[in-house]
Amino acid sequence: MIITKTREEIELMRESALVVSKTLGILAKEVKPGVTTLQLDKLAEDFIRSEGAIPGFLGLYDFPNSLCMSPNAQVVHGIPNDQPMQEGDIISIDCGAIKNGFYGDHAYTFAVGEIDEEVKKLLQVTKDSLYKGIKEFKIGNRVGDVGYAIQKYAEDHGYGVVRELVGHGLGKNMHEDPEMPNYGKRGRGKKFVEGMVVAIEPMINMGTKNIKQLKDGWTILTRDGKPSAHFEHDVALVDGKPELLSTFDYIYESLGIESDEEREFRK
Ligand code: MG
Ligand code: MG
Repeated sequence: MIITKTREEIELMRESALVVSKTLGILAKEVKPGVTTLQLDKLAEDFIRSEGAIPGFLGLYDFPNSLCMSPNAQVVHGIPNDQPMQEGDIISIDCGAIKNGFYGDHAYTFAVGEIDEEVKKLLQVTKDSLYKGIKEFKIGNRVGDVGYAIQKYAEDHGYGVVRELVGHGLGKNMHEDPEMPNYGKRGRGKKFVEGMVVAIEPMINMGTKNIKQLKDGWTILTRDGKPSAHFEHDVALVDGKPELLSTFDYIYESLGIESDEEREFRK
């Protein structure tokens, strides 16, 4: 069952999403060679708590940390550890926070120092596919329209779209209805309705779409060992159109990047 949100609840959810956006902005400055993912996890937890929020992933389904940190061939759900990041790595950081009883859940894949051109392209295409999907989250469309847009764009670039993990409705629970796959058929699936809030989160592999899981019970990796990227936004359906609750602007500010990619989806 889809749990729609009132305008007031959507504003509360914007606060939750912004705690995550700000956290990612702080982490953006610290993603560099020699830093460990465990150090970033601690930084994130402290900041989230200082904002009067609670880390959303810590303890969720027994996950041990505040951040999912997935380098290189890891797709999602990587566990922070004490291995230093290295020049040329990429690292997907997925972060959750609970504020006012609502979840924020939002992710970005960062370059560690200079990365190969072909990996740079994977990150750009994955992020662009996220916006292709967001554009389809509107009244008159269905779940399959978002999935189709993401899949088409990623596959046109020769990439693999992960099937086993999907986006989701978001609210007082981290995972609500509907599931939001990053693949699909136009006009299929549940109908979008005013007041829905979803996390749209393409997970795109440079090579095969196939994945495997480590024995830790969490870490998802590409089956061929090639890199994977993951970008996620929280989006509300307001006045029939997609409205972003999360933002990459704090990241861009930290990295000195100019971007107007979110303009059409702002309140
Ligand atoms: Mg997430
Ligand atoms: Mg999510």
